[in-house]
This record gives sequence, structure tokens and C-alpha cells, in this order.
Amino acid sequence: MKKAINTETGSGAAAPDLTTYDWIVINSSAGKDSQAMLDEIVKLADEAGVDRSKLVVFHADLGRVEWDGTAELAERQAELYGLRFEKIARPQGDLLDHIEARGMFPSSAARYCTSDHKRGQAHKLLTKLVRELGLERQARVLNCMGLRREESPARAKKDAFTVDKRATNGRRHVDEWLPILEWLEGEVWARIHETGVPHHPAYDAGMPRLSCCFCVMASRSALVRAAQLVPELAAEYVALEERIGHTFQAKASMAEIVAEAEATTELIQIEGWAA
Ligand code: SF4
Repeated sequence: MKKAINTETGSGAAAPDLTTYDWIVINSSAGKDSQAMLDEIVKLADEAGVDRSKLVVFHADLGRVEWDGTAELAERQAELYGLRFEKIARPQGDLLDHIEARGMFPSSAARYCTSDHKRGQAHKLLTKLVRELGLERQARVLNCMGLRREESPARAKKDAFTVDKRATNGRRHVDEWLPILEWLEGEVWARIHETGVPHHPAYDAGMPRLSCCFCVMASRSALVRAAQLVPELAAEYVALEERIGHTFQAKASMAEIVAEAEATTELIQIEGWAA
């Protein structure tokens, strides 16, 4: 392990030896952290002499619940670095279909949105990539994610490098690496602006994060702002609440959030992200 230092700020996380992996998978929501991580990994891989054909950008496609153009942007970002792009959606239906089938919204205690729509689909990609190699030995895969300590108390406790025991099996050894774990938001945006690679317009509309337009973990102000920006999708959530008899968050229904969004003529200011 050597130190991957952000040359702008001096901060960084321990970096694994990128030359020892058969595949380096870069998980991308197309959001700012994924984007900065993508640039950082390509830079480190180039420096280490790793062929870019070993790098794959993966987008877990969440369907209707994502901001418009998200999957296309993730693909465009990969293309600008000359990287392979893969997108997989849960075949049984998107997150709204899944919520309807379960009769409940996900929550911090039941984050089936992440496990089934993101992690589960990423594991399918790992299976596909390892099969392509046709190796006699166990393949080595580095699975990279753009989490940052600054984002939440749970992420603050993360290790930058771990063996991903849930993804490892007889055919593949999977390490998980969080290369920008130590980066601050300002560093992320500085890197993005430096690259000139396009970012999602939802940020310019004031949203602090991408992924689902309405995240069950988001603060009320972030949800109200999103309801102002995508009222048709908010209305789908309200109708879903009515059909299943379960509210979007324990302390806030989407119906209340939409009512607040409609009562405010100007775009609401977002006060923090977490609920
Ligand atoms: S953004 Fe929020 S609601 Fe969407 S998958 Fe992630 S945790 Fe779940």
C-alpha cells in the first residue's frame, strides 16, 4: 500500500497497488464524488502503468427515481476517459415498483434500495467481468466507491481499504477501496472544475447530492427543494404512499413535502442533507 495524495491539498487515502488487479471497477452514480474519484483513479492508474482497458465504470441504474440524464452522464463521463461503461438495473423493476411490491419505503434500518438496486447489481457485473477473463485462478478485482468521511457519521468510521467479504467467492477476490474518503467537498469540486468534465445540472439547481431525487435519508429542506424541481416524480411518490398506506419517511410524508413545496413560490434553501 502506498499513499495516494491529492496534490492540491495534500490529503489522501492509502492506495493499493493497482497493477495487481485484473479489473478495477469504478462505481459511479454520475454524482460529484463519483466524478472526482473517477478522475483520481484514472490518474493513479496511468501513473502506475495500468492499461485503461482494465478500468470499468459501473452505474447502477435506478430508473424513474434518478434525476433525468443521470445514466447518460455517467456513460459520457466514462467515455471522456476512454473507459468501458456498464449499466445494470434490477430486472424485476425500478425502486418505485419495488416499494409498491414490499408495501413500504426503505429506511435507514431497511436499506433494500442500496442492497438490491446498487450492491446486488454491482455483484452481477463482477460475475460477468470475471467470467470474461476465463482464468484458472481466482480473479482479483478492486471495487472502488466515492464515499467521503465528511458526508455522514457512518461514513466517517469507514476504512479506506478492506476485503469485500460479501463479494468475494471462489472465483474472485474483491477488495473495496474508497480513494477519496479523506477529501472535502471543496476538493471534490476543485478537481471537477480542473478536469472540465461535465457535472449534473441538479447541483446547479442547489441539490447537494445526486442519486435518487428523493432519498429516504435526506433532510426535509432537500426533499422540498427536489419536489420543486421534479413535481411530476413527487406526485408519483404521493400516489404510491396512498396506494400502500405507508409514508416516505417516518416523520414526513411525501404529501406533506409536496404541500410545502407548492406553498413556497421561491426555491427553498437547503439546510443540511441528512434527515
Ligand atoms: S439515494 Fe437514498 S433512497 Fe436512493 S438508493 Fe441511496 S439511500 Fe436509497
